[in-house]
Amino acid sequence: MNKHILITGGAGFIGSHVVRRFVTNYPDYQIVNFDTLTYAGNLENIKDIEKSSHYTFVKGDICDAAAVEKALHDFQIDTIIHLAAESHVDRSITDPLAFVRTNVLGTATLLNEAKKYWNGNYDGKLFYHVSTDEVYGSLGETGFFYEDTSYDPRSPYSASKAGSDHLVMAFYHTYHMPVVISNCSNNYGPNHFPEKLIPLSINNILNKKALPIYGKGENVRDWLYVIDHASAIDVILHKGKIGDTYNVGGHNEWTNIDLIKLLCTLMDEKLDNAAGTSEQLISFVKDRAGHDLRHVPPVNFPNPRRRALCGEYRAPQRRCSGLARHHGGGRGRNRHPGDVLRATGDIYG
Ligand code: NAD
Repeated sequence: MNKHILITGGAGFIGSHVVRRFVTNYPDYQIVNFDTLTYAGNLENIKDIEKSSHYTFVKGDICDAAAVEKALHDFQIDTIIHLAAESHVDRSITDPLAFVRTNVLGTATLLNEAKKYWNGNYDGKLFYHVSTDEVYGSLGETGFFYEDTSYDPRSPYSASKAGSDHLVMAFYHTYHMPVVISNCSNNYGPNHFPEKLIPLSINNILNKKALPIYGKGENVRDWLYVIDHASAIDVILHKGKIGDTYNVGGHNEWTNIDLIKLLCTLMDEKLDNAAGTSEQLISFVKDRAGHDLRHVPPVNFPNPRRRALCGEYRAPQRRCSGLARHHGGGRGRNRHPGDVLRATGDIYG
């Protein structure tokens, strides 16, 4: 079936892969990328598909109701994939209101304009909200987050995402708007903005700068290759059940310190450095306030419907093999020296 899809945040890290996947795989779909191009958005990330006849870019802010209304009408949108957000935890600690504005008010504005535009005719409509497993808070050394785990966000970022998830479900229950939510673990891969741990570390290794690690580096994250996330979004959009939430993970847990040591080894091989050269750059820094110890969504969903979907999008376990593709010859962020220099002064998140 033909679809008219508005993808918000399509110039960012994950959004750019979602836009590329849908433009490439679905020539019958009209794809509209709605993005205000904050520091994190860059049209270079999707330069390869920008001339596709069924793709349009609209520069707009999700908090601007008139701009959202116009895009929905102009392109007769029946499906929204909502990724636009402020996404960097450290920035949320220094400027929480920016996160409340974009992630809470922006999502509410988008939902409200979709409700007005669809006007109760929900046949063939879908509001797909992309969220994070950080809404569940922090785990101990064992266990997983499940879709029915209580929300317990710890940072202004995760609290604002939790607020947006609740608004989406409120529109489902109150107005019967067809919605679906996915909560994903940490992504890595091409186009990652170099303020985040992996690209920051790659750039610092290249520039022989210190590799800052919070605390003792014992925090654990599950890492999912971003292209696998785009594939999960595709499956959930087409086969997910209205009103459901889906956790998405990579079954790929790493402590920060082990991950950075792996990265150092890979980079030393790539750069023909003597073994152990890059590890000498590791520098432990004061821990982040409210730093979650561990967050990991399950891979084998206990719910059979979710498990069936999971089987469709899960790539063979990658154990961070995609790290090698993060840097080197790729398009996007790592090619912009200005961005890299700006970001490498900060600490990751
Ligand atoms: P990103 O910061 O790389 O990109 C965000 C994009 O949204 C940018 O292109 C930016 O210009 C755009 N944007 C920001 N504010 C906007 C506004 N007011 N109006 C329109 N566009 C706006 O983010 P990302 O890492 O690609 O994350 C995308 C989504 O996935 C977010 O909702 C995030 O919470 C979620 N998520 C991210 C991860 C991860 O590891 N990066 C993991 C799970 C979930």
